[in-house]
Amino acid sequence: MSKAGPPLKEVLDQLEEFYGAEEPSWPTEPYEFIVWWHCGYPASDAACERGWKSLTAITGIEPDKLLAVPTPKLAAALKVGGMVPELRALRLKEIAARVKDELGGDLRGSLVGPVSAARKILKKFPNIADPGADRILLFSGIDAVAAVPSNCPHVLVRILHGQERENYGVTYREAQEAIDGQITKNVAARMRAFLLVKQHGQTLCKRTNPKCEKCPLKASCAYYAGKRRGRSALA
Ligand code: SF4
Repeated sequence: MSKAGPPLKEVLDQLEEFYGAEEPSWPTEPYEFIVWWHCGYPASDAACERGWKSLTAITGIEPDKLLAVPTPKLAAALKVGGMVPELRALRLKEIAARVKDELGGDLRGSLVGPVSAARKILKKFPNIADPGADRILLFSGIDAVAAVPSNCPHVLVRILHGQERENYGVTYREAQEAIDGQITKNVAARMRAFLLVKQHGQTLCKRTNPKCEKCPLKASCAYYAGKRRGRSALA
């Protein structure tokens, strides 16, 4: 665990004061989440939500129901979620078939047991890598893993260490270590951390061109301190 930077609990308190308490805006059941995740591409909350609404207006998402809908009809429903709707329709068929044929129609029921085994099952689904598996395990309440939003692992690394690393995997791991080391291993506490970091990464601490001047954390952020030192050196 890194002891650099401000205590994470204080960082989260400040973010919560700034943004308010956050709630997940996506389905938290494992199977539903995987379906929702394929409703938009590129996957974002807004794109997935658009596709999800359109999909669930034409069919239920239970495996048998998805398998019964012709692929072109699924693709047409998913179009509103963004690119490659035909491919996403095929992926939905694949997901539904796997849950039905290999997991007895019950993905959650197959995720009992060691977390490593649950993670392995989840990663067999298309487009689910470690960050997605972590998010599913945490938000379904299966395990209080230190999940980090896949599109903004840089946030905590900037705050605690300064510049994020060039390698995505290293940045993700450092953010995960920070949560693991400083946030109680409790589903609610770690969901709160995930949601606030996600909100901040999408609003002010964007991957490119972060809006540091408007940020409530600038007094304690290592990245911002480095930026200021750089400016003074040039002055
Ligand atoms: S000061 Fe800048 S880099 Fe630091 S958390 Fe805020 S937006 Fe991100």
